This record gives sequence, structure tokens and C-alpha cells, in this order.
Amino acid sequence: MNEHQGGEYQPLRPKPGAIGEIFAPVAGFGVTLSSMFKPTVTEQYPREKVPTQRRFHGRHQLNRYADGLEKCIGCELCAWACPADAIYVEGASNAALPQNAGLQVNADDSQGAHMSPGERYGSVYQINYLRCIFCGLCIEACPTRALTMTNDFELAGKTRAGMIYEKQDLLAPLSEGMLAAPHPMVEGSTDTNYYSGDVLGPTAAQVDWVREHRPDDPTLDAAEAVASGKAPAPTQRQHEVRPDEGPGAAEKSAGAAAVGSVRVLADGSQVDAVETGARATSEPGSTSAADLTAGASTGPGTGTEVRA
Ligand code: SF4
Ligand code: SF4
Repeated sequence: MNEHQGGEYQPLRPKPGAIGEIFAPVAGFGVTLSSMFKPTVTEQYPREKVPTQRRFHGRHQLNRYADGLEKCIGCELCAWACPADAIYVEGASNAALPQNAGLQVNADDSQGAHMSPGERYGSVYQINYLRCIFCGLCIEACPTRALTMTNDFELAGKTRAGMIYEKQDLLAPLSEGMLAAPHPMVEGSTDTNYYSGDVLGPTAAQVDWVREHRPDDPTLDAAEAVASGKAPAPTQRQHEVRPDEGPGAAEKSAGAAAVGSVRVLADGSQVDAVETGARATSEPGSTSAADLTAGASTGPGTGTEVRA
């Protein structure tokens, strides 16, 4: 029989003895006193940033091949795989790039300009971080490993529109030695060679093509050094801040809802930050030519470009 059945109440903890009764009023301080001599475990975020586990799912990144071409082919598989409908993609044909006007460019044409190997590239790419649940299904669906996730977890924003990351926000920066796209594929190669990892850096023919079409391209010298064997092959970089966060970002984003702010980097330094909420209208043919929408198709979801 127990107390619910009318028996005498029996406390789960035994009653303290005489000495326990004496120290009972201050017993609660025991936890405080014992903790005072233990090592501090409080993380001083954001002044000190503790690295995440390597498998942590953070902000996405659109990767590049070693010669600077983008890995995304605009297939939209990531968008269809997303359970939160957070991704919007528009693909476009490489043949429709302005540099290819009048040229017959097919998937394996090493003469025409490409943003990515093969027939198509991702002309518009958006991830809505108000919807994303960081499940990683999108990166599993990506056939070219164009989309991966970084360890960056600092994804706060002041506006809903600012939480929609555009292609230029997600695209990995060019590493030293990479040649800014668009430019031809490595001569004699096919997209399969790219997928197989056979392309290890820009070639002299690619450098010559860019020098002819964009003689002021800042990536030319470093790429030429790689092509001539004077510099090591470039490796993939990750960026720590959105590339549009900096002086001049407002000019890049015509029509954008811009909110000025200051962002603290991992090394403690500060940069001027601008949150942009609309698609940037960068110069077609530039490194971040994200909005070459010729031949665009409609992706899943609402079909609108900015979905807060
Ligand atoms: S991580 Fe998940 S929710 Fe986020 S964009 Fe990818 S598939 Fe969608
Ligand atoms: S990121 Fe991958 S899955 Fe998504 S559109 Fe680009 S190539 Fe396709």
C-alpha cells in the first residue's frame, strides 16, 4: 500500500540526520562552491569563436573547378530535393553567353566561353535561409558536388530579404591561380574530364582566351603562372563572409534593399557590411556574373525570384 492508497507518505529521499539538518540552510551553496574551482567552460562568443565539428551543417557554398569554372550546371536537383522549398535555381545555356554570340557552342566545345563545363550553368541561384533547416539533402542530391555546406553558422540578418542568399553570396571565391569565368573549357576536354577530377588548373590556351577578351582581368597573372608551371595548382577556398559585404556593395546591387551594418570576422577585425535583398545586376561576363538569365527555366516552388 502506498500514499495514494491511504498509506503513510514515504519521501523518496531519506530524511537528513542531525548534522544534515544543521547545514541544510546552506547546502545549496555547495554546488556554487564546488563549481568555483572547476575550469570555466563558458564560451565567450562572439569575441572568441570555438570551431564547430567538421561535419557541422552551416551555410552552403557553390564550388569551382581548379581552372575557375563553376561546378553548378543549373540542373535544379538540389531545389527539387529540398523539403523546405528553400532553393531557387534557374539554368541557362553556355551557348547563350554574350561572348558566344554567333558561335556554335555545344557541350564539349572547348572554343566557346563557359561558366561551367558542359551545356548549361546556374544563372540564378538562391537559398532562403529563413526556410532552410540545414538537413543537407540538397548537397546529397547535387550530381557534380557543386553544392556543399561550410561550417559558417553566423547567418543572422536584419531583413527577411537579406536572408535570401544569392549566387554571388554562395559562390566560392577564386583561389590564387584560378582563372575567372567565363572562359573555354580545357582544350580537348569534356565535362566528364571535369567530373573525374582531371582538370588541375588553368591552361595557357584558357589564359590566352581571357587575355584576348578581358585583358584587364585581375586573375590573369596568377593563372598564367599556374599554366606555365611556375605556381602550384589552385585549391578550393571557402569564404568567411558574403562577398557583397564591403565597400561598393551597394553599387553592385541595383534596386536592392540595403541595410548598412558592421560585421565582426573570425580574426576579430570588422568590415562594413551591407545586406542586399534583391538580385544583384553584375556585369555579364564578370567573375560574379550571376544573373545571366538567357534561356532561364522555371524551378520548383513559387516560381518567384525572391521568396521571404
Ligand atoms: S539543407 Fe535542407 S532545407 Fe536547407 S536548402 Fe538544403 S535541402 Fe533545403
Ligand atoms: S547545385 Fe548541384 S544540384 Fe543544384 S543546380 Fe547546381 S549542379 Fe544542380
